Amino acid sequence: MAIATINPATGETLKTYEPLTDEALEDRIARAAQAFARYRLTTPQQRAGWLTAAADVLDADTDGVAELMTTEMGKTLASAKAEVGKCAKALRWYAEHGPALLEPEPKDAAAVGAEQAYVVHQPLGVVLAIMPWNFPLWQAMRFAAPALMAGNVGLLKHASNVPQTALYLEEIFRKAGFPDDVFQTLLIGSGTIEQVLRDDRVAAATLTGSAPAGQSVASIAGDALKPTVLELGGSDPFIVMPSAHLDRAAEVAVTARNQNNGQSCIAAKRFFVHRDVAEEFTRLFAEKIGALTVGDPMDEGTQIGPLATESGRDDVEEYVEDAVAKGAQVLVGGKRVDRPGWFFEPTLLSGITPEMDLYLEEVFGPVAAMWTVDSLEEAIEIANSHPYGLGSNLWSEDADERARFIRDIASGMAFVNGMTTSYPDLPFGGVKQSGYGRELTGLGMREFTNAKTVWIG
Ligand code: NDP
Repeated sequence: MAIATINPATGETLKTYEPLTDEALEDRIARAAQAFARYRLTTPQQRAGWLTAAADVLDADTDGVAELMTTEMGKTLASAKAEVGKCAKALRWYAEHGPALLEPEPKDAAAVGAEQAYVVHQPLGVVLAIMPWNFPLWQAMRFAAPALMAGNVGLLKHASNVPQTALYLEEIFRKAGFPDDVFQTLLIGSGTIEQVLRDDRVAAATLTGSAPAGQSVASIAGDALKPTVLELGGSDPFIVMPSAHLDRAAEVAVTARNQNNGQSCIAAKRFFVHRDVAEEFTRLFAEKIGALTVGDPMDEGTQIGPLATESGRDDVEEYVEDAVAKGAQVLVGGKRVDRPGWFFEPTLLSGITPEMDLYLEEVFGPVAAMWTVDSLEEAIEIANSHPYGLGSNLWSEDADERARFIRDIASGMAFVNGMTTSYPDLPFGGVKQSGYGRELTGLGMREFTNAKTVWIG
């Protein structure tokens, strides 16, 4: 894919970039390694100060960077501004909690025949972050804030369609006063990732994106024996039981599916509704989806903008056409919007069967697929038959149903009576083909640390 800003609301190419030459790439990796040699000796308190300064930079730059993200990948301006705020919050969270999380952990010295025994959490080194375009600031910040707090150095290979946001990310840390080269953006294509990942000066990698990209990075990193964190796709279930507050559930279902123009790994994508409330829930859900305003993402009144890329819009269209050809019913939407840019109507499909491509895959666009079920067990069984296991949602007022859902659903996150969301205070990640490792909280920071055992006799 060319490294370029193409406005998805118009299809217009606004700016293109040449990828780094081999010499420029070598220079950047060398600088990252040199930066780590110095940065690892800074104190957690110093790093916390720089993180706070980075949050202030974001606060000051909010309007400009939000417009940039909307221009590059089509999210609504309001959601772009909210994303900037979320990044500032995560930076402040790690500034506040990071130093304590990095304190040495005392162990029972007497039990191991030592005078002192403890664990120190030390940074691993240069970490390569391969990031997607859907939350172009947040996905990268979710890595950068904990990694830099722990004393690591970052190299960002961002998605090729968000190069200006990628370059802005480097600028945030420079403006915040971090030491030189602690966080650098590499404008490279995905074909160059292997060369960077195999470089001895790169210690570890993290990737958020599709399962094929994750498989590729995991196999190279496995061969090179380097740790990785993978946050891949999801096709989160959203289960509605008879005791649920239906209107609230339908309201949240619309947001959970259509947030970010339907392009979120933790979007609810499969809706399982108990037969006793299926008719009423479907009516509410369809009505609310049909009322969404599709339009220019820069306009204040717009709720759904375009899909980020032409190929992404074509993929969504193919999933819907395939499902309809195999018997699915279109209750709302179902086709591309007749205007320039890569718009697709918010869509609700029912009558989903295993023959349909979307049954076992991830539809990255505003398309909700709905099943009617006779029990919670049936919903969980179909939900768990999917290869992904990222987030999950249950709507129920019944304590026993909630307990069974939390026990049995195969996912990294289980949300009851609310939609799956990421917070600095909660671990984020999945199981099965949704990847491994966790982001955010202390767990996310520890992924890129060496828990060094210290024994002093
Ligand atoms: P990709 O997984 O292709 O892109 C994500 C990142 O990985 C980009 O930086 C990309 O670089 C890079 N990449 C692409 N191919 C490889 C590879 N073989 N090895 C290493 N890195 C690679 O996602 P797409 O944008 O193509 O979207 C395809 C599908 O992926 C979506 O429809 C959705 O299902 C899923 N996805 C999930 C996301 C999530 O949040 N979990 C986010 C984005 C997509 P480059 O841009 O240069 O190709």
